[in-house]
Formats: sequence, structure tokens, C-alpha cells
Amino acid sequence: MDIKLKRSLLALFFPNRCPVCGAIIGSMERFCISCTGKLTPYTGTSRPPHTKSFTACFVYDENIRPAIMLLKRGVCGNADYALGMYLAEKLRENGISDRIDLLIPVPMSRSGKAERGFNQSELICKVVGRELGIPTARSAAAKIRSTLPQKSLGRMSRRVNVRNAFSVRKPEIIAGKRVLIIDDICTTGSTISELAKVLSSSGASEVHAASCCRTQAGRKNNASL
Ligand SMILES: [Zn+2]
Repeated sequence: MDIKLKRSLLALFFPNRCPVCGAIIGSMERFCISCTGKLTPYTGTSRPPHTKSFTACFVYDENIRPAIMLLKRGVCGNADYALGMYLAEKLRENGISDRIDLLIPVPMSRSGKAERGFNQSELICKVVGRELGIPTARSAAAKIRSTLPQKSLGRMSRRVNVRNAFSVRKPEIIAGKRVLIIDDICTTGSTISELAKVLSSSGASEVHAASCCRTQAGRKNNASL
């Protein structure tokens, strides 16, 4: 079914809401006008090690935080749509979407996914992939061990915490492919960097990365990456 039709039908029963303030908005809208005006576009140019490019839409701050929290809790139907659509738009604008064969969501450990019930990076991939016409490889990579919550750790400890946490289960899927790692939020870049390293050594020809939000360097927050 056409996405516009699907969303407008759904909105008849479950009104579409701004994922920041909860105001009712049009079925194809992302945030309400007031909240949109408060979002800070990300303009940084740094990229995590082992990646060829890094794209982010917004600076992670208190104005976008409620949308990320809703996405992680999976209770708001519009957080994945709003964040995913902005990310797809940015990837199209900066030309990265033309250079990508596959989307790779940052994997969660089996127990982590069982506990949450879903992987929020996969939700973003679904929206971005549909919008850009790029397939998602959900099972190519896996998180092979549990890690401590990154938000509880400093920069160096984060790096150690995710070391050897990922493995490529199906190298034939990514061999020779230009892949784009997608996550909801990037803090130090340790998780993305570790996954990028594994994907490169397993045969991906190029590894790019993107996240909906990126924290400003040095700013303390509750992001979990
Ligand atoms: Zn709002």
C-alpha cells in the first residue's frame, strides 16, 4: 500500500503526533512547527575511525531528546518516521545515498533485543531504506556478546567495552558492497567504529555511517552509544 494512504488511514484511528511534544500533526508531518524550529541541525565534519563518511541530522540536545527516548521505548508511532525521513533527506542531499548498496543497522545482542522487543536502528533503516530504495541487511552482522551501557562509561572505557563485540555472520551478503551503518544516536563513535572495522575486514568495499543525532564533543548527556 502507498505510504501516504497507509499513514492517512492509520491517522484516522491513531492521530499522528509530534514525537517531541505530543501535539497532533498531519499524517505526513514529522514534528510540529514549534518543535521543528527548536531542533539544531548537525553541521560537524568529523567521522568515526574506519568509516569513509559520517552523516547526522541533528545535534543531540534537550529539544530532540524526547523523540529519541520515545524511539528507544517504541511507544510513539512517529519517532522512527520523523527521524528516518530527515536522515534519508540528508543522505540524498549530501550525495551519499547514490553511493550505497546496503543499509546495516547497528545490531543488538540477542538478550538486549529480547528485552526491548525491537532494535531501534532497524526501525530507522526501514524508513530510510523505503525512502531511498536501498535494501537493509538485518542479519549480516551480529552483536556476539553483551556490553555495559555505553552511557555509564567514559570515552576510553567505551572503546574497550565494544571491542570485539560484533561479528559478520554472512560475509557473502556484504562482500564487495558499499554499506551504510545506521544508528539512532552517535556519541563518541566507538560503536560505529568497531562495527565499521569488522565490516571492512569482512569484505565490504566501502563503509559509511549515519545517525539521526550526534552529541556535541565534550558534552555530557544520557545518550547510549
Ligand atoms: Zn512538537
